Amino acid sequence: MTPIDLRSDTVTRPSPGMRRAMAEADVGDDVLDGDPTTRRLEARVAEMLGTEDALFFPSGTQANQTGVALLARPGTELLVEADAHLVHYELAGVAANWGVQIRPIATSDGVLTGALVRGALRPPSPHVPRAAAVAVENTHNAAGGKLMAPDVMTGIVAAARAAGLPVHLDGARLWNAAAALGAPLSRLAAGAATVMVSFSKGLGCPVGSCLGFRAADRARAWEIRKRLGGGMRQSGILAAAALWALDHVLPRLPEDHANARLLAERLADCAGVRAVPPESNIVMLDLLRERDPADVVVPKLAQQGLLLVPFGVRRLRAVTHLDVGRADIERAARIVAGVLA
Ligand SMILES: *Cc1c(COP(=O)(O)O)cnc(C)c1O
Repeated sequence: MTPIDLRSDTVTRPSPGMRRAMAEADVGDDVLDGDPTTRRLEARVAEMLGTEDALFFPSGTQANQTGVALLARPGTELLVEADAHLVHYELAGVAANWGVQIRPIATSDGVLTGALVRGALRPPSPHVPRAAAVAVENTHNAAGGKLMAPDVMTGIVAAARAAGLPVHLDGARLWNAAAALGAPLSRLAAGAATVMVSFSKGLGCPVGSCLGFRAADRARAWEIRKRLGGGMRQSGILAAAALWALDHVLPRLPEDHANARLLAERLADCAGVRAVPPESNIVMLDLLRERDPADVVVPKLAQQGLLLVPFGVRRLRAVTHLDVGRADIERAARIVAGVLA
């Protein structure tokens, strides 16, 4: 039996329909004079995000890094929630690439607020670094797919704006946030100067992210992407997958959220584990017993056909996606119960 792979929503394989759209894509040289399918994707994403413009990138990391580069000069600080992707999973890129210091802001649940931003701002002084921008993440991966509601975002944007700071939104899973909150992406991104969204997570594409930004930033964004090695030639092959996903995969994200809730429900009475109630497609599983550390449990689960990742000494992460259905989730819950029995 093939294992049930809940390690990440990046493990999905392009479906036959997506592959067909890729094969039939109209293409050009996007670095030389533009690729028509890529242009179409960028325009569509900019419209969805409510940003003036957008560019297609090979990865979310590169798009995030470009967003930060647009907003922060060397020797300044980026205010960001302490467990954000920008803090833990981009190899200190903000420091290594741009000479920008991360100022981590601790929160109890991963949700940054306007009040926390105001509290982190320091009065101007010749002794302290100047803040350049605020970065937020929706949904928040390390916090278990936590949602940032539109009014919370509004509060952050207002606090940042009062201090003259632009906001970057890391929305690798903004699609999930929009589906779960029943709000358009543009509402969740309102007020952000730069917005990153990924196609290679819940939307099931092999490659790709977009960064939305102000029209005036297009030339610099293009240069930064090129300098980072992100200029792609017949990128329409990849953009076609993203366009196909917006039509065919985006509408089904609520199924992933229902499957995440189903997994948590099925484990509610299972001894030795507590599922954190999921808000989107990520379920954090806390292992309650001394004898069950994550590094012991993960290989046992794998042996039984369930792949999860450790997310701390006593925490596992399960992510639902379009390649797992209800039956897989039922089986996954039985495997967890069996291994912990
Ligand atoms: C995956 C992810 C990224 C980076 O995307 P890659 O395409 O893997 O580089 C950035 N932010 C968040 C929140 C993510 O989950």
